[in-house]
Amino acid sequence: MKKVVKFGGSSLASAEQFKKVKNIIDADESRVYVVPSAPGKRFSDDTKVTDMLLHVYKTASEGKDIDEEIKAIKARYDEIITGLELKDFSLDEDFEIIKKNLKEEPEVDYAASRGEYLNGKIMAAYLGIQFIDAAEVIFFNEEGNLNDYKTEKTLSAKLKQYDRAVVPGFYGMGKNGKVKTFSRGGSDVTGSIVARASKADVYENWTDVSGFLVADPRIVDSPKAIKFITYRELRELSYMGASVLHEDAIFPVRRAGIPINIRNTNKPEDEGTWIVESTCQKQDYVVTGIAGKKDFCTVFITKAMMNSEIGFGRKVLQAFEENSISFEHMPSGIDTMTIVVHADEFIHKEQSVISAIHRLAEPDSVEIESGLALIAVVGRGMKSASGTAGKLCTALAKKDINIKMIDQGSSELNIIVGVNNKDFDTAIKAIYEVFIEKK
Ligand code: ADP
Ligand code: ASP
Ligand code: MG
Repeated sequence: MKKVVKFGGSSLASAEQFKKVKNIIDADESRVYVVPSAPGKRFSDDTKVTDMLLHVYKTASEGKDIDEEIKAIKARYDEIITGLELKDFSLDEDFEIIKKNLKEEPEVDYAASRGEYLNGKIMAAYLGIQFIDAAEVIFFNEEGNLNDYKTEKTLSAKLKQYDRAVVPGFYGMGKNGKVKTFSRGGSDVTGSIVARASKADVYENWTDVSGFLVADPRIVDSPKAIKFITYRELRELSYMGASVLHEDAIFPVRRAGIPINIRNTNKPEDEGTWIVESTCQKQDYVVTGIAGKKDFCTVFITKAMMNSEIGFGRKVLQAFEENSISFEHMPSGIDTMTIVVHADEFIHKEQSVISAIHRLAEPDSVEIESGLALIAVVGRGMKSASGTAGKLCTALAKKDINIKMIDQGSSELNIIVGVNNKDFDTAIKAIYEVFIEKK
């Protein structure tokens, strides 16, 4: 049995947290490869080290002095080193190099990545095992995506040399020979890559909640934890903002059939959530999880007889493609079609998209609206249950929430509802109540 264990920022924010992590690793000898994040928040309005580093980068790139900011970051690490009583270990030299590099040629990814690099060094020293710099084993291609082939080959060969090792999360080497990071929260992706390359039996992802919860704990009070969730369900929920695991983290392990176990560093006795390819485990509820995101825009297009005009949909989508905008959903009626897009991508290009739609598809009208929130209600059990959509709509109607859009995926794995941004929290609470509390 071999396990890869990834610890998130809050699990490594202080010496006290590092000690919990060591206890967890020592409690099971199959926990052989460790992927740490950078130190996260110690208390709610604390600053994550990654954010401090991003700020240093900004200061350096404006040509201002960074000595004080570097000192504050070093203090975070020194506090951990002292708290762990690590004798004969220091990051002084590393900090000198980092400072010099940031002053001479500030690079944003390099700056951000140092959080995990330094924490990885501490972790390796504390556990007394090998440190492997992620920049030597994880590679990106020219487009900035993971170079799967090269990474798998190099990383698996490297891991074979060591029975136990620490590989810092979040970064690797870019095609241009410079350090490159994944997007925020990307240590989850590193954990998954290490699990696949080492042919692990389990990828344990240790965080600050006892598993994947049915709904965001910042919206619903003490939501229940999900015991088993499939990769597909998780993908739907992560994509829609359930941020417990990076949305790309499932791909490497999924292909290798390795389950992910989300666990709580502060409550190691809790079983957490199992993320699996498929399961026969009986579900407690029809709905596995609820997640959502705010700030979408809708582009509502009308044209008489559009249903019989061959190629109409393609022309409309071409207008978005020409503007490099991806779309989220496309509910349609007989003479109407709505395209849902994320506001961030759309707002600064809205007029260009509208004129392209007119030019390409010659519609009768195009109307746009903002402030839409999308909520995904996800569950493999919905396929064999009837009345789910009805129950959902009734729950929202009872709270006077107007449903602006509803879309059931053909896999019957999810139902997406669109509501006004202002109704977002109330809607999630109402859905949780009807499917989980009052089941
Ligand atoms: P880490 O630093 O360990 O990577 P993250 O902050 O990335 O942890 O993810 C854990 C957090 O995700 C939780 O503290 C919680 O606030 C948030 N979260 C959002 N949605 C959910 C959900 N459905 N289940 C569990 N946690 C969630
Ligand atoms: N430290 C990085 C971040 O804050 C990566 C991670 O935590 O996974 O985004
Ligand atoms: Mg995370």
